[in-house]
Amino acid sequence: MAKAAAPADRWLWYAARTGRCVPLDPTAYPSITDQGEATPSPPWVCRSPNGGLHIDSRLGRVDIDVAKAPPANIEINWTCDYGVRVVSRAWLSEIRDLIDEGTIFVGDVRRKGRRMENWATLNQTGAPRLLGSEGWADSCPICGQPFSVLRGRLFFADPGVRGRPLIVNGQGVFVREDLALGRNLRRPTGSFKPSVVSFLANPPALKPRPAWLTPLGSSPVEAQQASQPHWRSVLAALWKAGR
Ligand SMILES: [Zn+2]
Repeated sequence: MAKAAAPADRWLWYAARTGRCVPLDPTAYPSITDQGEATPSPPWVCRSPNGGLHIDSRLGRVDIDVAKAPPANIEINWTCDYGVRVVSRAWLSEIRDLIDEGTIFVGDVRRKGRRMENWATLNQTGAPRLLGSEGWADSCPICGQPFSVLRGRLFFADPGVRGRPLIVNGQGVFVREDLALGRNLRRPTGSFKPSVVSFLANPPALKPRPAWLTPLGSSPVEAQQASQPHWRSVLAALWKAGR
């Protein structure tokens, strides 16, 4: 049995419990159309060689335009497309001092062209991925965005996470446990009770990505769009004109 991880290697994981994700504003972006359904294609998106669309892992700050205000009682949420982390500025203010400004970026949430006072995006450049002992993992060969299927015990294996006060990735926001407990950090409303995730110095071997799964993706959108060209500006313009 492995020893319990040192305090600097344990984080509380805050993740949205909601299915009420925040829709991007399709009129603010070019769009691509797949099987008659238009999907916003923002400038911060990367397309892997086999077609999957995801947040470009090399980017820092991500500003977004949304079609609807995030539900007020859900302080940690994500965008329906691409899963950009959306957090309330009230909760963000409680962890703001933990942000390493070289790697974690706060962005704006705009609606109808206006910055929303109460909301922000949170994004980490080259975010360390969460892994599962029974899952598998892959990454985009262009930007390195990780894609993992989480099953079994969840953990971090990237030594770069050790001691980090705050980690932000596609799965949520992680606050070092000793810091969260020390300040009696409240749980964001609408989130799961946080569980502890540790760094493992000797992680279990990961399975390769199953051969039957051709597209790299972290959302159904990516799988659906695997064979679509990246920019469908003509279709986007027609679609916009038809609204
Ligand atoms: Zn990529």
